[in-house]
Amino acid sequence: MSTQSTSPREGPPARKPALRLIDVERTYTGAAGPLTILNGANLTIFPGEMVAIVAPSGVGKSTLLHLAGLLERPDGGEVVISGRKTGELSDSELTTIRRLQIGFVYQFHHLLPEFSAVENIMMPQLIRGTSQRVAHQRAMQLLAYMRIQKRAEHRPSELSGGEQQRVAIARAVANAPRLLLADEPTGNLDPSTSGLVFDGLAQIVRASKLAALIATHNHDLAARMDRRITLREGKIVEME
Ligand code: ADP
Ligand code: MG
Repeated sequence: MSTQSTSPREGPPARKPALRLIDVERTYTGAAGPLTILNGANLTIFPGEMVAIVAPSGVGKSTLLHLAGLLERPDGGEVVISGRKTGELSDSELTTIRRLQIGFVYQFHHLLPEFSAVENIMMPQLIRGTSQRVAHQRAMQLLAYMRIQKRAEHRPSELSGGEQQRVAIARAVANAPRLLLADEPTGNLDPSTSGLVFDGLAQIVRASKLAALIATHNHDLAARMDRRITLREGKIVEME
């Protein structure tokens, strides 16, 4: 007898979080003694969600992003990427997840100075084995999303700060990651340029159903995201 009609898998698939932090702990040991940054931090971010992390300097935003991006390991708790627990994985397995599923944007762009904008966005795709033609097509599409396709052939030194950051964002999502982590991506830009860069970022996040965790000091940008979180006594708390 068929049991298909009563399958629990019917209906829309449940959304799997792109990122989960479960009771994450992180303590640095310095000359002045131990410094606890995270002490039972919990966070869940679903695909398509943009979450702002807003906290004063030195509180632990970068630490949180490094842990979520598998660049650092927690002292306790679990970091789960698209349903996969990462605590037991080897360094090379973490590197693979990072390459395939996570994109990073930093305050300073770190673009390769001797390559053009479009080449910078092609690079991670070529490293992953994508053909020149497909990588170029995708890079041009991302530049169009960021509204800077006319700057495709410019080198970083021939781009404004805001344009450089838009290229850096396009590069971070070139391999279609599931999770985008950005550490004060507009931190060195003026307010109106920040707005433009954020528009491009938001467009890509929405179009590709990325999950994004973005550290920012800019309250206008934070207000435009789906949720705002901060850190208090080593825990993540929702704002408002
Ligand atoms: P934020 O990004 O919010 O400014 P960070 O996550 O960079 O904060 O740093 C949080 C705290 O942890 C700071 O006081 C910083 O000095 C300290 N810290 C960061 N990284 C290290 C490290 N590798 N070793 C020791 N202390 C660190
Ligand atoms: Mg920081």
